[in-house]
Amino acid sequence: MARQFFVGGNFKMSVFYPSTLKKGSKEALVNGTIQSIKEIIENLNNAKIDENVAREHLRSGIEVAAQNVFNKPNGAFTGEISVSQLKDSGITWALLGHSERRTILSESDDFVASKAKAALDGGLGVILCCGESLEQREAGKTIEVVTSQLKAVADAIGKDWSKVVIAYEPIWAIGTGKVASTEQAQEVHKAIREWLKKEVSEEAAEKTRIIYGGSVNEKNCGELTKQEDIDGFLVGGASLKPAFVDIINAKS
Ligand code: PEP
Repeated sequence: MARQFFVGGNFKMSVFYPSTLKKGSKEALVNGTIQSIKEIIENLNNAKIDENVAREHLRSGIEVAAQNVFNKPNGAFTGEISVSQLKDSGITWALLGHSERRTILSESDDFVASKAKAALDGGLGVILCCGESLEQREAGKTIEVVTSQLKAVADAIGKDWSKVVIAYEPIWAIGTGKVASTEQAQEVHKAIREWLKKEVSEEAAEKTRIIYGGSVNEKNCGELTKQEDIDGFLVGGASLKPAFVDIINAKS
């Protein structure tokens, strides 16, 4: 069964240069301001994107994900946001377990898993990030780290992975310009699929999309796309550029 290609743009608080400004200009904006979002939306709305890939400000087929959600439905949790608040704003996905949250904000595997459960129970899709540090890779622990991150989620959500997209993001490749080689990425994606088959179900292994993130750009996405177990991308820096459209269309 063919899995539908899935590409997410992970917009952060990074510096953003509108098309009218040169890189390095002092008038740069922080990404996420209204002007920066307008430019990105305009680029996507005007792009030639296969209707199977794509479907208000933003045209249908392009959905919006939050970069976090809390694991409780309501209560006094200053600074947090609930599943129902996200849904009320038209948000359909939550990106969870990004390494910046795991490392900078000390989110544990279990906390990420509890948020995944809350999101799925509330009807959001989940883009679940996992990935190893350079130290862990060099110690030969990549698969162990990734599968234990996934196991925490499986323990919390059980067997229904139909609304989960797994994003494999080696930490050493995020924002560094060091993309994993096609072999490195494929090896981990394959191991994740085997883990799904063994620990969740054959159906989950066959249908769950496993996307790659870590310095993906319009030049390196083509080779990665050819790998059997790479079903799309999670893109940080390059998602802010017009060439993001080339990444979205990498499989067409
Ligand atoms: C990310 O932040 O999830 C990411 C993959 O970033 P970049 O593409 O910039 O490496």
